[in-house]
Amino acid sequence: MSKYIFITGGVVSALGKGIAASAIGALLEAKGLKVSIQKLDPYINIDPGTLSPFEHGEVYVTDDGCETDLDLGHYERFTNLRTTVFNNYTTGKIYHNVVTKERRGDYLGNTVQVVPHITDEIKQAIRSAVEPDTDVLIVEIGGTVGDIESLPFLEAIRQFRYDVGRENVIYIHLTLVPYIKTAGELKTKPTQHSVKDLREIGIQPDILLCRSEMPLPLDMKRKIAIHCNTDIDAVITALDVETVYEVPLQYKSENLDKVIEKKLSLPPVEVDLSIWEDVVRRIKNPTKETKIAIVGKYIGLKDAYKSLTEALAHGGIANDTRVILKWVDSEEIEQKGVDRFLRDVDGILVPGGFGSRGIEGKIEAIRYAREKKVPFFGICLGMQCAVIEFSRNVCNLLANSLEFDPNTPHPVIYLMERWFNQRTGEMEYRSLDSQKGGTMRLGAYTCLIKPNTKAFEAYGVAKISERHRHRYEFNNFYRDLLTQKGMIVSGISPDNQLVEIIELSNHPWFLGCQFHPEFKSKPTSPHPLFKSFIEASLKAQQALFI
Ligand code: GLN
Repeated sequence: MSKYIFITGGVVSALGKGIAASAIGALLEAKGLKVSIQKLDPYINIDPGTLSPFEHGEVYVTDDGCETDLDLGHYERFTNLRTTVFNNYTTGKIYHNVVTKERRGDYLGNTVQVVPHITDEIKQAIRSAVEPDTDVLIVEIGGTVGDIESLPFLEAIRQFRYDVGRENVIYIHLTLVPYIKTAGELKTKPTQHSVKDLREIGIQPDILLCRSEMPLPLDMKRKIAIHCNTDIDAVITALDVETVYEVPLQYKSENLDKVIEKKLSLPPVEVDLSIWEDVVRRIKNPTKETKIAIVGKYIGLKDAYKSLTEALAHGGIANDTRVILKWVDSEEIEQKGVDRFLRDVDGILVPGGFGSRGIEGKIEAIRYAREKKVPFFGICLGMQCAVIEFSRNVCNLLANSLEFDPNTPHPVIYLMERWFNQRTGEMEYRSLDSQKGGTMRLGAYTCLIKPNTKAFEAYGVAKISERHRHRYEFNNFYRDLLTQKGMIVSGISPDNQLVEIIELSNHPWFLGCQFHPEFKSKPTSPHPLFKSFIEASLKAQQALFI
């Protein structure tokens, strides 16, 4: 039977509940436990798939093709968990399920209410993330205690302890202990108030994780413990650290693993965090440095590219290199020319995206990378733009993607309809000539890698699986022409229908992939393509000095 840890947040948002949940997951895994982590989001959208990255940050995609909150990316980067549709629920999804049941007549004429129907649905959602061998499920409740929206979730987790037994559940509250410069003091009042709010709705936190820019002295911990009715050893300093990957180590230095162990009656095991020590050592002691330009549209909100920037950092870890990011707004390239933005970088990356804004600037950046032989990495939309650039400037086609120009004479990126033919047992494809229709290709797909290519050199295997999130595809009608002119199709779907990776033959490192490799990169096992891209960028830098 699984144990449960519920994590709530107080005082202000953006304290890093996602990182806290992930780091606790890492600590418990280091004890040999099987951990799962779930996010309950109080917003009404059914999933974040339709939310603007400007507003909500990245949409993280799971293997099973679910569009989820970016915190699930942290969960996967810190633990061995492979998240699925069961690891993220929103208020919208919960209500949708309840309303569907109501329409079906499942409630047998009863009045459908927040308590018990919504709260029951939430409790069922929590249980859905538990597998038979799960030892601990960590549940992160989005939002801040005191928000109207999160109340049903808090009520559900309050009830949950009674359903599964006191000894199987703990509540951890993440709070802020600010340092007031003018007074020269740390202040506990916001924490006291936030815990008071929680206790008013019937939840007594077992552990307080206190975000602070300095270690809390013992007398401060005692004060918090007395006012908040917790054990003094359960008041933990969650210190600001240089890199998020240091958080598991910092928690251990505060004995958080032991406190959780005791409160949940887990078997006493000493945790071994040597993999995290190694990651942190590499991040803090780089021997080299490389500068990478990210040419994109959502550069104002860095969270829009969370997994991407993490994966680049992981590529740096693999090469003992500090990766410096230069954010370049592709619309600025359109206005001011490309040279001034890219002259000082060792590598150029064009990430995923939707819509036609800034596309021409991205294509200019890719042309620069191709002609000046600067290492280039194109991801999803970035690969599609690389195909357009090559078709226009090498193959002399008036090329575009149907997404940006529905009337283009050469739709090198187009819409493809796919369906499963039950009679033949195979997937079938048909091109679509309008922007209507065309379903999003979501989740994990198998890809075969051609030998003697940059992709094969990086992966070292002939068969991989990567996650997708796009509507448009490489148009096979142009495959022969493009390959004759020097483009290499180095990754392809097993049925040879979907182009998944492209490269250029006469270039040090020019690679585009239709999938999102950043979703599967971890600090403890950096993604092969990011490792290889950073390596190539270092080489390009050295070449400059010879
Ligand atoms: N807009 C492109 C498509 O839908 C690319 C999507 C992406 O980069 N994730 O195919």
